[in-house]
Amino acid sequence: MSLSGQVIVITGASRGIGEACALELAAQGAAVVLTARNEAAVKELAKNIEAKGGKALGIAADVTDYQALESVLEQTLKGFGKVTGLINNAGIIEPIAFLDKADPSAWAQTIQINLIGAYNAIRVFLPQFMAQDQGLIINISSGAAFNPLEGWSAYCASKAGLAMLTRSVMLETQDKKIRAFGFGPGVVDTDMQGLIRASGINRVSQIPREHLGPASDVARAVAYLCTEDAADLVGELDIRHADLRQRVGLQAL
Ligand code: NDP
Repeated sequence: MSLSGQVIVITGASRGIGEACALELAAQGAAVVLTARNEAAVKELAKNIEAKGGKALGIAADVTDYQALESVLEQTLKGFGKVTGLINNAGIIEPIAFLDKADPSAWAQTIQINLIGAYNAIRVFLPQFMAQDQGLIINISSGAAFNPLEGWSAYCASKAGLAMLTRSVMLETQDKKIRAFGFGPGVVDTDMQGLIRASGINRVSQIPREHLGPASDVARAVAYLCTEDAADLVGELDIRHADLRQRVGLQAL
């Protein structure tokens, strides 16, 4: 069990990539703290993990609510006595709309969740990691952080900001034993890709569902990044990284 002894908080764990990461990390021995707005879903998932012999806690928390994240830290320490990692996975894609037509408040909400939400969690957990001189932060990134796509200005801007946040964490913690990653999961078969397909707006929306990758592959890669063995890979990388795929046992591309 490569992750036994670790206690890892995952935002956006109610479905999709976050849920898959929760299942994989728990199967590899980590205690997982599952957060999302949908309380019933995270509590149910935690129950399922515990039924399989794993350790899990489901807590409702909106990443835009700083105090809710402070409470997640408090409940994590109370429940498991420590915290070793944070996975900033919560994210939304909408509004999928061109710049001249997007609703300004929906645009701002994407930045609020995808960027400021991740910052909020880092702001809450980083002091704990600094104090214990040990910690792990994985920000779920995207190709959209580096390449604009039509209709995705809010999403691309939020993920570009998140990539800089990853680099900022690395810079400010370089004298500490804190590992930070920005990890691009590729195109993954989740509800988010359903919204993208329905929009029909850019080339990503044209990818047939059967060409999308499984969330379980992303989860295996993320679980590997949670181990000390991945310490040499810190920084921005994605699931197409050949060396990572080989280490995780994913098929070569
Ligand atoms: P889903 O839409 O399937 O899941 C998104 C998750 O984020 C849900 O658990 C949702 O839970 C949670 N979430 C959304 N808003 C908030 C909020 N305000 N506070 C807390 N949790 C929130 O998407 P994916 O699983 O596909 O995406 C997960 C991450 O991966 C995202 O950051 C996404 O940008 C990234 N990604 C996905 C790709 C893909 O192809 N699927 C490609 C590249 C990156 P709830 O609604 O219960 O709050």
